[in-house]
Amino acid sequence: MKHLLATAISSALLLTACSEPQTTTTNTQTEQTATAAQVQPANPLFVKSALQYETPDFNAIKDEHFMPAFNKGMTEQMAEVQAIINNSAKPDFSNTIVALEKSGELLTRTRSIFYNLAGSDSNPARREIQKELAPKMAAHNDNIFLNKALFEKVAAIHAESDTLALSAEETRLLDVYYKRFVRAGAQLNEEQKQQIRDINTKHSSLTTQFSQNLLALTKSNVVLVADKAQLEGLPAGQIEQLANAATEAGHPGQYLIKITNTTRQPILAALKNRELREKVWRASAERALSGENSNREIVAELAQLRAQKAKLLGYDSWAAFGLESQMAKKPEAVFDMFASMIPALMQNVNAEAAAIQAKIDASGEQFKLQPWDWLFYAEQVRKDKYNLDENAVKEYFEFNRVLEDGVFFTMNRLYGITFKPRNDLPVYHPDVKAYELFDADGKSLAIFFADYFAREGKRGGAWMSSFVKQSGLKEQKPVVVNVMNIQKGASGEPTLISYDEATTIFHELGHGLHGMFSNVKYPTLSGTSVSRDFVEFPSTFEEDWAMYPEVIANYAKHHETGEPIPDELLTKVIQSRSFNQGFDTLEYVAAALLDMEWHSLPADAPLQDIEKFEQQALTKHGVNVPFIPPRYKSAFFSHSMGGGYSAGYYAYMWSEILAADAFAYVQEQGGLTRKMGDKYRKEILEVGNSRDLMESFKAFRGQEPDTSALLKRRGLKATVQ
Ligand SMILES: [Zn+2]
Repeated sequence: MKHLLATAISSALLLTACSEPQTTTTNTQTEQTATAAQVQPANPLFVKSALQYETPDFNAIKDEHFMPAFNKGMTEQMAEVQAIINNSAKPDFSNTIVALEKSGELLTRTRSIFYNLAGSDSNPARREIQKELAPKMAAHNDNIFLNKALFEKVAAIHAESDTLALSAEETRLLDVYYKRFVRAGAQLNEEQKQQIRDINTKHSSLTTQFSQNLLALTKSNVVLVADKAQLEGLPAGQIEQLANAATEAGHPGQYLIKITNTTRQPILAALKNRELREKVWRASAERALSGENSNREIVAELAQLRAQKAKLLGYDSWAAFGLESQMAKKPEAVFDMFASMIPALMQNVNAEAAAIQAKIDASGEQFKLQPWDWLFYAEQVRKDKYNLDENAVKEYFEFNRVLEDGVFFTMNRLYGITFKPRNDLPVYHPDVKAYELFDADGKSLAIFFADYFAREGKRGGAWMSSFVKQSGLKEQKPVVVNVMNIQKGASGEPTLISYDEATTIFHELGHGLHGMFSNVKYPTLSGTSVSRDFVEFPSTFEEDWAMYPEVIANYAKHHETGEPIPDELLTKVIQSRSFNQGFDTLEYVAAALLDMEWHSLPADAPLQDIEKFEQQALTKHGVNVPFIPPRYKSAFFSHSMGGGYSAGYYAYMWSEILAADAFAYVQEQGGLTRKMGDKYRKEILEVGNSRDLMESFKAFRGQEPDTSALLKRRGLKATVQ
């Protein structure tokens, strides 16, 4: 899963704050250096790094430096916040909002470095710190955003914002701060605050129980097979793995099939035995609905608690509360977005289902397609159509060529930028490579760390994050990192990657440029600090250049002969990507709608019967297709019920719609040109969250997005008879 580490962190720790801008005269700098040399600060985190753009000095930072820096950082920020509260002058934008933006310099620096390393280069010491830190940081955040005196100052400034001569960016910043306080519950009276705290406590124990039930089920909810013959269709290596898993679990001589976290079980694509397929599918789709690890009541209660909390905060539903801070703004916008694509989507689904039913009929079987049959027969259809050899494809995707002649080449053509290696800068692991980013006019823009290879201690997936965020106020330039988990070639051998991995490098650098092109004043509004339903737009937008003819001709060359990838093979690669997209899209859309419906319930709605509710919700939107159930059902829908993406699972597709629409527009306007690149950079990437996101989109695109380009991007036919 591609995503942003930065968003995960900032949603947990709502305050992004920063330092007093340092005086930059030579004298002061010399003085500071002299002082630093005399005092010899034992902890390098206590002072700003002297390296270019405050790039962390990874050689000097040790794990024992983190906790003291966090503690000191929190204490310092609370003192700064207290000073804002104690200021007897009339509260204004400068002495309150800007002061908050400037607070917490040490904490911000420590947090950025620590969470980056905890994700990409973890170890037992760092995991211990993470555990110790979580409750402390949550409390620190509450101490700021539930502070009555501080909120009163912010509210007073917000109330008279029309009369203040604020710039557009300042107005936006004030609004962002005001809403953060309101949404945390700062406006409520003591009794209501107590109710919120009670709900939060109950909610927190229920979400924990929800996750723990699922965790327990990953062990207990498995399918054991005694007879090897039932596993016909699986490759020998996989059968061996299942045998080992059974032995480990105390069932030697048998075969143990684990259930993965979605409704879809990849093993079904190869399992010939229909009865076993049904058994595996049911173990997946019906999990957590009964028995000691049931989430049945928990789901209903969570939905009700969230509705009650939303009501206390002044909203009609949890979805209304959640969407207000997003680009979509209202639940209706999300429902409309899905409604506009469902007719075309269902047409594609029906065509895919017909092809699969034909395959079943042709095999001499006499049954009607069921959910446990889909993947198995879809795989047969796919083989008939494409018969793609992934290893043959990889020969044309050598890592360095993809990065330099593909990704960097594209960025140069679009934006005029160049990446120059900076081998003199310290890195946190020998596999990490530092670059400096230069603009077309030779001006230095940012430092970029490339951390692409898998290793122990790195969590799975791919993401972008920042060590230093761009901010005019703090006179800071961005220091950004891209992290992936590419398997490095053996020593002396080239690293050959899949086409998907190649597009992921484009994707992550899309996030990277969102951070590195940022050109705003206030750090809270900088770069990727946008809403969840916008953040994947810049990354998905860059993905599509990977298959742009001029780009692919420049990088997809055989690693030994340098021959370009044969047209026939390339066409297969591209076409095979749109295979089964009706199924993929529908199972996602159904889950996203389920998430929206649960969180659209009003506070006075009774506790729901989970299965009945699901059926009604899917039927209401015309997506109740028995053989394509939602990707997650409510009882194991961690995004939605676990909390992180409640009323927010739609966001992935919202971002993709923006990206597809913007990319299609660029193609209409001449494709890979500086003219389009510069316009996109100016209206989308440089502005970060400093203005309304739909306004930014329209400034670039000339109109609001629609879903037709997305359907095309996914290879779905958009015509409805
Ligand atoms: Zn992403």
